[in-house]
Amino acid sequence: MQAEIVMIGTELLLGQIQDTNASFMAQVLAENGINLFWKTTVGDNRGRILEALDRALDRSDVVLCSGGLGPTEDDITRECVAELLNRPLEYHEALFEAILKRFAHVRAKITENNKKQAQLPQGAQAIPNPNGTAPGILVEDARGIILCMPGVPSELKPMLTDQVIPWLRRRFALAGVLHYRVLKVCGMGESRVDSIIGDLINAHSNPTIGLLASLDAVRIRIAARAESIEAANALIDPVAAAVYERLGGLIMGEDEDTLESVVDRLLQEKGWTLAVLETETGGALSQRLAAIQATSFYGGKVVPRPDREGASPEDFGLDFAQRLLVEFSVTCVLALIADSETHRTVAVFISPEGTNHWEIGYYGSAGRNQLRTSVVALEGLRRCLTGLEPVQ
Ligand code: ATP
Ligand code: MG
Repeated sequence: MQAEIVMIGTELLLGQIQDTNASFMAQVLAENGINLFWKTTVGDNRGRILEALDRALDRSDVVLCSGGLGPTEDDITRECVAELLNRPLEYHEALFEAILKRFAHVRAKITENNKKQAQLPQGAQAIPNPNGTAPGILVEDARGIILCMPGVPSELKPMLTDQVIPWLRRRFALAGVLHYRVLKVCGMGESRVDSIIGDLINAHSNPTIGLLASLDAVRIRIAARAESIEAANALIDPVAAAVYERLGGLIMGEDEDTLESVVDRLLQEKGWTLAVLETETGGALSQRLAAIQATSFYGGKVVPRPDREGASPEDFGLDFAQRLLVEFSVTCVLALIADSETHRTVAVFISPEGTNHWEIGYYGSAGRNQLRTSVVALEGLRRCLTGLEPVQ
């Protein structure tokens, strides 16, 4: 079975809103082992929507649409599906009652144009929308299947995962899954990771290994197709083990792990507590720890750069950091002191086991530098906590 996606909306086409639905839809399809070869984005234009749907039906078995189901003039997906398949729109009283109930529930006033949302192309089925007014549309036609979902992400996502996917799995007797595990490496570029595990990437087809780099981490994605998640994991395990053998402690974590959650876990295991001193990063590091409510994080301070004549950043860091031990009543301090001339940051980590310090590079424009510096600092800290050298 082959599926294809048609995204409908002028805002999407022109990049005024980010198309998060398309990537969500593609991921869910892939996880369910459904082939996806085409994705089209089209504006709210009748002729072009018809053309996009027509082409999609020519080459795919199932067409999944997002957007244009609302009550307003520019929401024309329903009309286009009806016209393309030559199935006139029919009004369904029961659907309108469900819409009325929804309006009463959210205490909003219904308008005449909401009646439009109670219409379906002849022979189509409504897909209930418990999170909004417009029901989705399912049409099984001789040319293929069209499934329309609302554009609002909080309506589309549950409709897709709870209703559309289970229906497709039954309809096409889909058994397989695509399951994956992500191993994360920080503080090391994609090309270096590739030079270490490149031969593994080329050697495998199920599971496949892929690399995805972001400012946060390099993600090593090991994806297997199998009958069940358990069977997929059995395929993934030996390949993950081979990757671990190469990279060892440089792997920061898996799947949902973040640098800050891993660091917090390591600190807790040791029974240590942490305060943070920042200059150039302006609180970016504290913000990461605070955002996950890290148990071991007791607070932080942001201070200006040590613009003193002849000041040694290391002394400055140590001196300052030591005071924080007392001020926050913690066992550890991580201080990030920026050098005013080079912009480079010196990280100092004081713990009951001693003091480590290491240098962090400068990563360009302010926001990017703050993010990157906080990531590299946390990775250095993680390495200290696991007994590795902070910089490799
Ligand atoms: P509504 O009933 O709200 O009009 P609709 O089904 O007609 O829903 P659209 O009008 O296309 O959907 O989109 C409604 C809103 O949902 C958009 O303004 C946008 O905020 C969001 N949205 C639509 N499509 C997407 C998308 N692909 N990714 C992320 N958000 C989207
Ligand atoms: Mg709309």
